[in-house]
Amino acid sequence: MSNQQVTELDSAQKFIYTRTNIRRAFNDFDDTDISDIYLQGEDCLILRRDGSQQTYNREPIKVAYTSYTHRLKDFFSYLGPNYRGPSVWHNNAYILFKGWHHSHALGHLTSNAKLQAHWADKFIHVSDATKLKAILQSDQTDLGHLVAPDGLRFANRPIDLESDMEEENTGVSPVAAEPYCSCGSFQRQLLNVSEFQQEIQGFKPWCIHLTWFHKYRELLCKRTEARNASPSGTPNKCVAWWYAPPSDATSDGRFVLLHTKHGAQAPLTHWRTYKPKEVFTQNNAWDLFFNMMEAGYVPFPGRSLPQLQSVVKKQ
Ligand SMILES: [Zn+2]
Repeated sequence: MSNQQVTELDSAQKFIYTRTNIRRAFNDFDDTDISDIYLQGEDCLILRRDGSQQTYNREPIKVAYTSYTHRLKDFFSYLGPNYRGPSVWHNNAYILFKGWHHSHALGHLTSNAKLQAHWADKFIHVSDATKLKAILQSDQTDLGHLVAPDGLRFANRPIDLESDMEEENTGVSPVAAEPYCSCGSFQRQLLNVSEFQQEIQGFKPWCIHLTWFHKYRELLCKRTEARNASPSGTPNKCVAWWYAPPSDATSDGRFVLLHTKHGAQAPLTHWRTYKPKEVFTQNNAWDLFFNMMEAGYVPFPGRSLPQLQSVVKKQ
């Protein structure tokens, strides 16, 4: 046993050296019957109820924590009603909807989904951030988050078009360059940022919502590129997609794609199911979209193409 000093976890370390993160880092870690977790030198010291102790190196646990907070959730995780993506709000920020409508076959009937549909176009009229957050995330609601991937613009520093030159001179930007999210995980990191930075080199607060937002933005850029690549501006290579959310907690959703080389308005006879023998789920959606766009296909939600409706009802 090492004679290095044993220390208690500080406010940031409490979020990093958790049972779940230790298990993520070490497959063989037994997370039952733990009485306490301490630090000792380069290790995490686990005290068990039977009096036994074990040590686990801190480094892989930090890596596990970081990759968990940066993980990419599936494409449908943060789409609102009618596959709505992040909606522009004020202060350089966006409303990111939680995917209630797509989490379950009956998800659109949940109170959160109904509230989202009610509020989706009205959030822009709530200009106070505190009020907005109370509507988005409270004890009663869990509609989504306020996210600013390029940094929040402070409400008290509106952009003044006439003082552009002065702004350059003072070198003060009206926009905070650091990304922002209103979710609990991000706010905890922000609150304890100096402790996190002491523990993890180069630490910056981050969350799954920012990762998803970046991926979604990349998808929109790629889609525009694929669209602009056709000389007429109307692409011939098109892919139409449908998604049926899972019917119970243990199954996956079904993701179906049809493709054509004759334009989005082509009749049903000109469309083919993409890999009809394979079953795709929400977990395949990002990769399929990017692969298709790489091949020059422009994706469209299938429900926007009336001539294709009959084929989906059969599946
Ligand atoms: Zn977040």
